[in-house]
Amino acid sequence: MMAVSHVVVGGAVWAGVSQALGQPTAPEALGLAALGALLPDIDHPKSWVGKRLALVSVPLAALIGHRGLTHSLLAVLAFSLFLGFAGTSSLAAPLAVGYLSHLLADGFTLSGVPLFWPLKRTYGIPLIRTGSPLEIALLALLASLMAALGAENGDLAQASQAFHKLLRLAKFN
Ligand SMILES: [Zn+2]
Repeated sequence: MMAVSHVVVGGAVWAGVSQALGQPTAPEALGLAALGALLPDIDHPKSWVGKRLALVSVPLAALIGHRGLTHSLLAVLAFSLFLGFAGTSSLAAPLAVGYLSHLLADGFTLSGVPLFWPLKRTYGIPLIRTGSPLEIALLALLASLMAALGAENGDLAQASQAFHKLLRLAKFN
C-alpha cells in the first residue's frame, strides 16, 4: 500500500479509537499514529521511511526482505514492549495503534501479511492492488469521511487541519 494511504488509515483509525474512548483527538497524537503507520515499511529501502533511514532499511531488506518481521505480530509485541519500557505511555498508544493499522491496511492488499512470521503463510483479504485506482478511491472516501466527522466535531476538525499541514510538510501531497 502507498505511504500516503498508511498515513491516512493510521490517522483515521486513531481518530476513531480516541473518539470511541471519548477522548479529544490531539493533533500530536494523529501525527504519532501516522508515524507508527509508516514504520513497518522500514524493511523496504524505497519506502517513505526506508529512504529516510537507509542505515536500517537496506540491511533489513537484505536480511529478511519486505513484508517479513516488521509486518508480524512479533514486531507489534516487541514494539509495544519497547514503548512500554521506555515509559512513554501517552506516546505509545497512538504509535502502536498506527503500527497495527499498517498491518490491517496491508491485509487488504493482494500479498497479505505474514502475521505469524517466521512462518511464511500470509493472511488477509486480497482486495486492493497497491497504487491501483481502487486504493486511491478508498483513500479519498476515508479522507472525506474524516473531514465530514471533523465538521461535526471541533477538536477533530482542528486535528485534521494540523494533520493536513503535516502531510504537506512530509511532501505526501
Ligand atoms: Zn507494509
